[in-house]
Amino acid sequence: MSLKGKVALVTGSTSGIGLGIARALAAEGADLMLNGFGEANEIDALRAELAGSAGVRVRYHGADVSQAAEIEAMVQATQETLGSLDILVNNAGIQHVAPIDEFPAERWEAVIAVNLTAVFLAMRAAIPAMKQRGWGRIINTASAHGLVASPQKVAYVAAKHGVLGITKVAAIELANAGITVNAICPGWVLTPLVEKQLAVRAQQDGIDIEQAAEAFLAEKQPMREFTTPAQIGALACFLCSDVAKTITGAPLSIDGGWVAQ
Ligand code: NAD
Repeated sequence: MSLKGKVALVTGSTSGIGLGIARALAAEGADLMLNGFGEANEIDALRAELAGSAGVRVRYHGADVSQAAEIEAMVQATQETLGSLDILVNNAGIQHVAPIDEFPAERWEAVIAVNLTAVFLAMRAAIPAMKQRGWGRIINTASAHGLVASPQKVAYVAAKHGVLGITKVAAIELANAGITVNAICPGWVLTPLVEKQLAVRAQQDGIDIEQAAEAFLAEKQPMREFTTPAQIGALACFLCSDVAKTITGAPLSIDGGWVAQ
């Protein structure tokens, strides 16, 4: 498979799963628009490394995806500087952990804005040009929490269930436009987002990080193993390939058996 000539925008690709997806798409030849927060010099170095190792064009847009106007500007910048936007990966995400009766309304708004509303806004901005070109791949990073719940993650679980809803609606609307829309539903992946939760758990229970990681896996996954960003990147590439052209509207679990229980 080659994605040479395709342009991919991956939100939240300065870290974790998004970076794994960006690396995998670039390795298949796709030009990239990176997005996410981080130190300017580190992002520059990442851009140069990806461009050099994969021989593709790599740009960066610093849009805060909680801001509608910034999402529109990022989609437009991708189309203008790289020539098109063929593969949209909505991946940026944040977490907040607290019981509902103690959950700050402001954190609810923030999680919904980044994890849910941004997905809708980026799709709305990117779909018209995909329709014109008659080809597109939209991949939304949902979660096992798009399919099942856990306590203390009300905004995240609501947002990820919503992402599956958006994915299904778009898949139906675009079924005969050459555009597929799918959601990847990872279980535990060891990224900064999860490392923060591990640190809190280790402190609360007086255990070390390794023990906290074992506890996380034991509670949720029959398979006691973290999925890697590279494995999720490979799944994203598969969804972009021709053999996957009739997979649409699907939540694809990559979760060590989490939701099989
Ligand atoms: P991460 O913290 O490593 O990366 C998150 C990325 O999103 C970073 O690049 C960050 O800069 C960016 N980001 C955050 N807020 C943003 C904003 N307002 N605007 C633009 N970019 C923003 O986390 P991760 O674990 O790689 O998470 C990526 C996605 O995977 C999220 O949607 C998350 O919900 C999902 N996910 C993660 C896991 C896991 O176990 N790590 C499991 C299932 C789903």
